[in-house]
Amino acid sequence: MTETNRTVRLAQRPGVGVPGPDTWTIADEAMPEASDGEVLVRVDYVSLDPAMRGWINAGKSYIEPVEVGAVMRAGGVGEVVASRHPGFNPGDAVEGMTGIQRFAVLPGRDLHAIDLSVAPAPTWLGVLGMPGMTAYFGLLDVGQAEAGQTVVVSAASGAVGALVGQIARIRGCRVVGLAGGPEKCAYVTDTLGFDACIDYKAEGMFKALAAAVPDRIDCYFDNVGGPILEACLSLLNRRARIVLCGAIAGYNDPSKLSGPRNYMALLVARARMEGFVVFDYADRFAQAQAEIGAWLKSGEVHAREDIREGLDSFPSALADLYSGGNFGKLIVRP
Ligand code: NDP
Repeated sequence: MTETNRTVRLAQRPGVGVPGPDTWTIADEAMPEASDGEVLVRVDYVSLDPAMRGWINAGKSYIEPVEVGAVMRAGGVGEVVASRHPGFNPGDAVEGMTGIQRFAVLPGRDLHAIDLSVAPAPTWLGVLGMPGMTAYFGLLDVGQAEAGQTVVVSAASGAVGALVGQIARIRGCRVVGLAGGPEKCAYVTDTLGFDACIDYKAEGMFKALAAAVPDRIDCYFDNVGGPILEACLSLLNRRARIVLCGAIAGYNDPSKLSGPRNYMALLVARARMEGFVVFDYADRFAQAQAEIGAWLKSGEVHAREDIREGLDSFPSALADLYSGGNFGKLIVRP
C-alpha cells in the first residue's frame, strides 16, 4: 500500500478566543519528496505549545506568523525515511520544526540528531526539548536563582514550570509552585519535590502564597501573567528578578492582560523584570541537554508527557493548554 501524508493546515485566522475546529484543515495529501540537501522524516510526535496561539495571529512578534494555508508550525521528533543530505541516514532519530503532519521534508541543516538512549523520543520534546531549554536558561541565566533563595513558578505542573521548579530544587532553592487544582498540586509537591504548591483556582490564593514564602520571593518565573503576576509583585524581596517567560492568561484574549496595576513594586524592591526568547540560547542547548539528561538518569528530574493519539485530536488538545486540560508536556502522536 502506498503511504499518504496527513497534515493540519491553518484554514483561517481565529478571532478572539480559543481557536475552534474551523481554524484548521485536516486532510490526507500526497507524500512529500526530499530534494538535494533535504531529508524526509516520519514524524512520530509533535509538540503542542501555548505560543501556537500567537503564531496564527497576523503580524510578526518574535517569529513570522504561520501563513493561512500552510502546515501548522510545530516542533517534532521522528525517524529519517530517506535522506539526500550527507549528515543523515534512514533510521536516524531526529528533531526539528516538522509541523503538524505525519511526514515532513526539511533541509538537513535544520535537523538535529537525538539520542534515544538518553530518553525516549517524547521526552526530547519536553525536558530535553524547547520547554526544557526554556526552563533551564530562563531560571539560571535570566532568573539568576541561587541556593537559599525562594523561587516561585506558575503553571508549575506544565512542561516549562515543572522543570523550573526541579532545577531550582537541585540548586538548593526553596521552591513554591502555583497550579490549577489539588491533583496537580499534589504531583508538584509529592513527585516533583517542590516545598509547596498553591492551588490558584481555590479561594485565598494570595494568603496561601504569602504564607508559603515567609522570606518573600527572590525569583518569580512567570508563565501566566494576570492576577498571579500581581500577587508575586506584592511579595518581592529586594533585588528580586521576575522572569517574563509567558502570559498564557491572555493569549486568547489580550484584554484579560491589563496591568500589572502594582508594577511600582519593582521600584520599591529594586527589582527587575526581564523577558527572554529561548531560541536566543540555541548555541548552548547541547550543554543544557547534557546536564538535564544526567539528572533524568540519576532520577533527580522527573519528566511527564501527556500524549494524545492522532492528528484529528490536535484542535481539542491545543484548546486544553488554555484551560489546564493538559497534565504534563502536551504532545500529539500523528
Ligand atoms: P504548560 O505545559 O504549562 O501548559 C499550559 C498550562 O498553563 C496549563 O496546563 C494550565 O495549567 C496553565 N494555565 C492556562 N491558563 C492559565 C491561566 N489563565 N492562569 C494560570 N495558569 C493557566 O505549557 P508550557 O510549559 O509549554 O508553557 C508555559 C509558558 O511558557 C507559556 O506561557 C509559554 O508561552 C511560555 N514559553 C515561553 C518561551 C520563551 O521563549 N519565552 C518558550 C516556551 C514556552 P493549570 O492547570 O495549572 O492552570
